[in-house]
Amino acid sequence: MFGSTLLRREFPIFNYNPQLIYLDSAATSHKPSRVIDGITDFYKKENSSIHRGVYELAARATQKYESVRQKVSNFIGAQKTSEIIYTSGTTSAINLVAQSFLAPRLKGGDRVIVSALEHHANLIPWQMACKKAGAQLKIIPIDDFGNIDLNAFKQLLTSRTKLVAVTHVSNVLGTMIPISEMIEMAHQQGVPVLVDGAQSAAHYPIDVKMLDCDFFTFSGHKIFGPTGIGILYGKADLLAEMEPCKYGGDMIRRVTYQETTFADAPQKFEAGTTNIAGVIGLGYAIDFINRFDKKEMSDFIADLGAYTRSALLGIEGLSILGDTQKKSGIVSFTLDGIHPHDIATFLGEYNIAIRAGHHCAQPLMALFGVPATSRISFSIYNNRKEVDFLVEKLKAIQQFLA
Ligand code: PMP
Repeated sequence: MFGSTLLRREFPIFNYNPQLIYLDSAATSHKPSRVIDGITDFYKKENSSIHRGVYELAARATQKYESVRQKVSNFIGAQKTSEIIYTSGTTSAINLVAQSFLAPRLKGGDRVIVSALEHHANLIPWQMACKKAGAQLKIIPIDDFGNIDLNAFKQLLTSRTKLVAVTHVSNVLGTMIPISEMIEMAHQQGVPVLVDGAQSAAHYPIDVKMLDCDFFTFSGHKIFGPTGIGILYGKADLLAEMEPCKYGGDMIRRVTYQETTFADAPQKFEAGTTNIAGVIGLGYAIDFINRFDKKEMSDFIADLGAYTRSALLGIEGLSILGDTQKKSGIVSFTLDGIHPHDIATFLGEYNIAIRAGHHCAQPLMALFGVPATSRISFSIYNNRKEVDFLVEKLKAIQQFLA
């Protein structure tokens, strides 16, 4: 099952790189053969442009492309397929909401709220929109362990708040935020909420209807799918009110030289030829995940995280950022006197791939008073043996550089 040789065999990357210990799945996950072959098959057997052609091949491609929308809809518990918009990733999904939803509503003196944990992708689009409108960007503080301060959040919510945009799981600390509670609190003030699900969609059960979030975003490449494809979920009534922010083919109802009327959602947000093969690949990635129980997936990954945390705490001079009791599959740490890049480079010599840097969260790094950290992150192809090897090599680097 998870972490087994059998499961790893489904990921060709490990066949081509048998020594690889890949501990960077928060950056991007590897792809199972079914996803890779599915994309290749599509190009070989069904490639054509969607929506426009009436010939049999185009009809087949369109049918396949649109059937993935249903898969995505089921995957996150949406009510309608029209609530699922194909984007190029989380970043473009968030930018779409910033431009099409927020910008037209945001006036001077209004506010937008994000948390201190955000990835730049869920910070800069709001920062720019606020600057343009003369609105304020408010930051929900966190405690020393990276936990959201819910009292402070409550204080920040005002009648002039136009949006709350928060990550579901921190890509640096692995913290899962109390999202249901926060959505409820925001809705009590009539404030819509966007959830950045980039780090939760792969392994955590997602039900947007139960969460009652207004927008939910994620990327295909972090959930065993290809790069260049992502999803924006939006509640139907909000999408209906939103104007598109990209114009071109395939998003219109009628065009004259003077005027254009747009198609309904989702088409009005999908101008131009989209990443058709990417959508097909995403469909196979969701099929792959659907073979497993998501609760078992997240438990497995949380267990690897907990195992890693307790092993790392035995290393002198090593500090873990955030709550060490929290269960998640992302662990960020610093090691006294050794730069994270040197750690990652040293580990690379042993085919251990971890991430070093600011993880696109510079303000969070500043809060913790570090320029960078080393980050370990897991997926279902990892196992405890890999963690043991990592810990052994981390001890070795200390001796090597002492
Ligand atoms: N939000 C979070 C929490 C992330 O971890 C990432 C990717 N590291 C993003 C947003 C951006 O995702 P993408 O680069 O796939 O658009």
